Amino acid sequence: MHMVIVCSKCGQLLLAKNTQKTRRCPHCEARLVLEKVKKVAHAKSASEASSLIRALKRKRADSPNL
Ligand SMILES: [Zn+2]
Repeated sequence: MHMVIVCSKCGQLLLAKNTQKTRRCPHCEARLVLEKVKKVAHAKSASEASSLIRALKRKRADSPNL
């Protein structure tokens, strides 16, 4: 299972696998503990997850307060 998480430091959306315990943010290099980060979506595959990220980014651009 893949998921879309929000970096607690820079707020960017990123992809993670639920088999991982930690993930380094490619945007700000923060080490994120997956148990503690905000998860915004789940996906069955990496490609599904990346299209979710694209959709979420579009949604954010439309309503920046989300
Ligand atoms: Zn970050």
